[in-house]
Amino acid sequence: MEKYISVADAKSCALARHSDPIIRSAIYGVLDDTPAAEVAPMVPGRWDPSSSYYGFRCCSVCGGTIQFDDDDVWPFCPRCGHPMEVEPQ
Ligand SMILES: [Zn+2]
Repeated sequence: MEKYISVADAKSCALARHSDPIIRSAIYGVLDDTPAAEVAPMVPGRWDPSSSYYGFRCCSVCGGTIQFDDDDVWPFCPRCGHPMEVEPQ
């Protein structure tokens, strides 16, 4: 899986790790010259109550249905792997 980073965060890490301004400048140059990837912000899915099965919920992304126990918190869908909104407990 690709990993996308923030250029501003990468520059902050470089600033914290390298005191030499020449090295920092070289790192900043590489970061500034690297073409940006086209990525969309990740929107978490929701667990919607199933209209067919009591006690089950459906993933808003794939429609997969799983059964929840009262204390279960699923931060991702086990069927499609999409991150899900998780309400604080
Ligand atoms: Zn899913």
